[in-house]
Amino acid sequence: MSQVLVFIEHQVGVPLETSLQAIALASALGEVSSVSIGSCRVGGVARHIEVEHPMLSDYAPEAIAEALAQLIGSKSCSAVLASGTERGNEVMAHVASLLDLPLATNVTEVRPDDVSWELTRTRWGGSLLEEASLTATLKLATVAPHAFEASNATGAVDTETFAPDLSETLERTRVVERVTISEGITLTTAPVVVSGGRGVGSPEGFGILEELASLLGGAVGCSRVVTNNGWRPHSDQVGQTGTRVAPNLYVACGISGAIQHWVGMMASKNVLAINNDPEAPMVTKADYAVIGDLHPILEAVVEEVRRRKQAT
Ligand SMILES: Cc1cc2nc3c(=O)[nH]c(=O)nc-3n(C[C@H](O)[C@H](O)[C@H](O)COP(=O)(O)OP(=O)(O)OC[C@H]3O[C@@H](n4cnc5c(N)ncnc54)[C@H](O)[C@@H]3O)c2cc1C
Repeated sequence: MSQVLVFIEHQVGVPLETSLQAIALASALGEVSSVSIGSCRVGGVARHIEVEHPMLSDYAPEAIAEALAQLIGSKSCSAVLASGTERGNEVMAHVASLLDLPLATNVTEVRPDDVSWELTRTRWGGSLLEEASLTATLKLATVAPHAFEASNATGAVDTETFAPDLSETLERTRVVERVTISEGITLTTAPVVVSGGRGVGSPEGFGILEELASLLGGAVGCSRVVTNNGWRPHSDQVGQTGTRVAPNLYVACGISGAIQHWVGMMASKNVLAINNDPEAPMVTKADYAVIGDLHPILEAVVEEVRRRKQAT
């Protein structure tokens, strides 16, 4: 049976959802071993390997890649997967370079045959699907976020540690400072995102979006026009050059739905467009649409949500 190694990203020992999605794909391809930097609770895999080294106390892509390359050299695996996040792609690009192997990033489907993998992967920020063949003996790939249901398998897993031999030159790229930009619910984890575009009209116009997001336990997002105008910080921007989100509900208020915005929220389970243009791409692609001026519409929605909350 094929042995598949999955690099797990985690936050204080809890695997990221995208890493659990990578495990789901790996489970369909062979027997899965997972590997994390430091300690992490992973379920549903044959074994878990924790990489321990003083240089790996925080994100350091070159050093992590070297550690993974050494681990891969000590195991007989046929494939190594990671999630197609910025960090997953960065680490795996270094691994591919170290091992002189090709890397298929942002894979959405794998059809393995005896020697190669036929696969589909996203390109150009998700606006293009590419069919490709991966023929290297050791397959390296990252898994497009939200392309697979996350594995929620639990249960005790045999855990071992691996101590790589790392030289100090690998410390060239590492995290030196952290700045908190938001507390509590974040854009990437919020079940509801209330997002505004040029149609919101001003920074003050976002007040009603803040109110709706807070009533629904969600977060506020925006388009690039909004960040370019200085109405919201870049950390709120959704899209190709912003954050990718996949909430249960994405409320797009006064956003035209340009492809660069769409690729950042197209994984949303439901999209509600509020726009005064019935022909706007966001409206034609959305699951639900309300046509009209967003300001009175949002006032009415907030009032109704508040009334229903008080009634319960
Ligand atoms: C390389 C590159 C990367 C990019 N990356 C991103 C990115 O990450 N994220 C992103 O968002 N964009 C990105 N863009 C920009 C993108 O192409 C669009 O220009 C941008 O998304 C448009 O923002 P918008 O929808 O807010 O504005 P507009 O396109 O101007 O749309 C405004 C919408 O609001 C509606 N409207 C106006 N007034 C009202 C009202 N009172 N009530 C209701 N509706 C109203 C209009 O009908 C219209 O549909 C990128 C572009 C490039 C070239």
